[in-house]
Amino acid sequence: MAKTKPDYIAAGQDRDLYSGLIRLHVLHHAAEEPIFGLGMVEELARHGYRISPGTLYPLLHGLEKKGYLRSTEERNGKSLRKVYHATPMGRKALRAAKNKVRELFGELIEGRR
Ligand SMILES: [Zn+2]
Repeated sequence: MAKTKPDYIAAGQDRDLYSGLIRLHVLHHAAEEPIFGLGMVEELARHGYRISPGTLYPLLHGLEKKGYLRSTEERNGKSLRKVYHATPMGRKALRAAKNKVRELFGELIEGRR
């Protein structure tokens, strides 16, 4: 029989369930400083999200297409890399999301109704 991950681990990596949190996390960091793909993969890994560059790059493009992020090319040694930063619209979306996260946090963690 094929080895499968225990359910709780599989659920902890359920990308659908966490996709919004991952986007907010990305937006948060992009509002603080310019971010780049691989750096963000590492940052997310630090928080327990295993996400490959192949998944993260389309996510960054999606946020850029929506107008939340803007990318520029930055020289990194001999190569160019794309860095992203939050647009004013992205910052506004992040502020609105913070209120929703606070609300959710109240219910999930603090048991408020
Ligand atoms: Zn972080």
